[in-house]
Amino acid sequence: MSVAVRVLCQFTAKRGDLDLRFTPAPSAREGIAGHIIVASRRGRDYQTEVTLEGTYDGLQVRGRADGYDTKERRLDECKTYRGELARMPDNHRALHWAQAKMYGAMLCRKQKLREIRLALVYYDVDTEHETVLAENFRADDLQTFFEEHCAQYATWGRAELEHRQARDRALLSMSFPYEFYPAQRELAETVYRVAALGEHLLAQAPTGVGKTMGTLFPMLKAMGAGKIDRIFYLTAKTTGRQLAIDALQALATPEIKLRVLEITAREKVCRYPDSACHGDSCPLAKKFYDRLPGARAMALQGGMMTQKVIGAAAIEHGICPYFLSQELARWSDVIIGDYNYYFDQSAFLYGLAQEQGWRVGVLVDEAHNLIERARRMYSGAIDAETLRRARKEAPELLRTAIERLSNEFQRIANAQQVPYQVYEIAPKSLLKALDTYISRHSALADQAMLFPEHVQKLFFDALAFHGLAEDFAEHSLFDITHPEHATFMIRNVVPAPFLKLRFAHTKCVVLFSATLSPREFYQDLLGLPDTTRWLDVESPFSPDQLEVQVVRHISTRYQHRGDSIAPMVELIVRQFERMPGNYLVFASSFDYLARIAEALDRAAPHIPNRLQVRNMSESERKQFLEGFAPEGRSLALAVLGGAFGEGIDLPGERMIGAFIATLGLPQLNEVSEQMRVRMDELFDAGYAYTYLYPGLQKVIQAAGRVIRTQHDRGIVYLIDDRFARREVRELLPKWWRLQILTVRQPT
Ligand code: SF4
Repeated sequence: MSVAVRVLCQFTAKRGDLDLRFTPAPSAREGIAGHIIVASRRGRDYQTEVTLEGTYDGLQVRGRADGYDTKERRLDECKTYRGELARMPDNHRALHWAQAKMYGAMLCRKQKLREIRLALVYYDVDTEHETVLAENFRADDLQTFFEEHCAQYATWGRAELEHRQARDRALLSMSFPYEFYPAQRELAETVYRVAALGEHLLAQAPTGVGKTMGTLFPMLKAMGAGKIDRIFYLTAKTTGRQLAIDALQALATPEIKLRVLEITAREKVCRYPDSACHGDSCPLAKKFYDRLPGARAMALQGGMMTQKVIGAAAIEHGICPYFLSQELARWSDVIIGDYNYYFDQSAFLYGLAQEQGWRVGVLVDEAHNLIERARRMYSGAIDAETLRRARKEAPELLRTAIERLSNEFQRIANAQQVPYQVYEIAPKSLLKALDTYISRHSALADQAMLFPEHVQKLFFDALAFHGLAEDFAEHSLFDITHPEHATFMIRNVVPAPFLKLRFAHTKCVVLFSATLSPREFYQDLLGLPDTTRWLDVESPFSPDQLEVQVVRHISTRYQHRGDSIAPMVELIVRQFERMPGNYLVFASSFDYLARIAEALDRAAPHIPNRLQVRNMSESERKQFLEGFAPEGRSLALAVLGGAFGEGIDLPGERMIGAFIATLGLPQLNEVSEQMRVRMDELFDAGYAYTYLYPGLQKVIQAAGRVIRTQHDRGIVYLIDDRFARREVRELLPKWWRLQILTVRQPT
């Protein structure tokens, strides 16, 4: 068993309150630069990055001390920071000392020293000032410290090893809980192969294949065979998480003692949303690390650590459920959570996997969503409204800094004569103003969590924007929208450069969805390596189950919408009367939907219809879906690409047909056009990458709501003449048998 000093101390030396006050930490780049500056200030006898190792009872401890002055016999543990050092929480300081002592013990042993001077060197990245806290230690005392911490870690490590060995034995003999469909078997075999070989896979697998079980089962098998250490199942939506939990529950037996962890977003589980995450503000942060072992043991009892189980353990032990779930991650075999825990800028699960050296098998559910989600992860904005409100709410200490930033923002915005413009790069003067403001705000980091809402928002916006500006390149646009809702935005277009490191440092990533065509589109935009495998699983459904009619006598283009409504309504009513049942009508906008609904009311008042509206609450969405009663007869109208365009399951009679009155093309506006230009420059595929592929992906997802099982029968109308074009037809699922409606059918 082997462990890095940092990881060991994180595990054994944390005590007291949870305390997130001492933020923000310097960026990795600032940290490295800080270490270099500190080292450059030392003399000739100073060694940097001193490799050290030690053993205790079969545990090998390794690491690199930041610096050692051979003449003074002083070992430095260097930490970069921002803000006021005096306010650094005690538990942070204790952790730093623990690391220094572990290195000190190993160095004393290596060089047979009887005592040593240890120093914590705190380097302020903003002022470049160093604070050195130094103390002398006897080698014997350090050795005792070393052994105590190793013993704690080794006890845990051995228990973990035993758990993993038992888990792996059980997984090896685990059998598939249902009968395999042939397509599902193909998917499962391919997933196992890539996991074993350490490759990545793009798997297009239509609805009905049983993707959740078809990917989880082989990944677990690969874990049982020792090919990977952990599985992360990442989803874009909560519904996907529940499917994964259900599948793992179906696999569970008394022998398979899997630890499954569901991570839920902080805003959903935080019990004190008006408090800050530290012991003086939130009671659930108080004595967090002291209470953690009891809560952890309770949560781990059943193996299935869902939001409910974690919540109960957190309440019982009086600690924060969100941070308890984070602590449980290192004890878990399968972790289920949102994409952002692995792909976002400072993603927690990615960081943990790197820190622990885990070989992870990552499953990305409904992976067609990853492009858009990743774009958001790597985009950032500063807007006039946030600045205005922050300025109004700002505490005295920050007012001047915010005003200066606001003035610079306004000056740049006012210089723009047109409502929207893209620039080659963000202006230096803006970045300088941001820099000054961030430094000022950071210096007050200890109070920052208690600042008013918009002051905090401005700070996080500014930090994100500044970080993105540092990495700005052709993968992103910098644009200014002005004067209405003036916004400066770094808008990611191609997330590939950010994500490709994630793929490079992960043992195996399987991205699966019903719509991942064409493969180059996903590979280019996500930054998957060229060696990524591709699997196009055959649909388990027969063409006889789904009638697909292409309605080419109607155009849904913006300028033809007025004319499209009457023939469309005629088509819908005729189909409804031919085969009464529940149908979904998809259109491109709420406005278009409302006009169709009005026309339906006039033409067929006897057909009940209901309309998706903007910002529906969860209960309104539920009510909307409950309208799809078995044997019901109604029309539901929804926006393509919205809440009802994917991820809903209405099998059998609950839904027998869909009318899709749009190609789903993103709105033609200046932003889309700029993206098209950039896609053209980068991939020579501007229109396809910006409009056509994302649009048709939504169409196929929406049409996929109709046939959910092998017993379903249904019909899809693709309403627009462009669906009849060869380049569009080629992108539709191969198993669809298209019929082209060229003339109006008699009523
Ligand atoms: S309950 Fe909320 S405020 Fe308290 S520590 Fe957890 S996330 Fe922070």
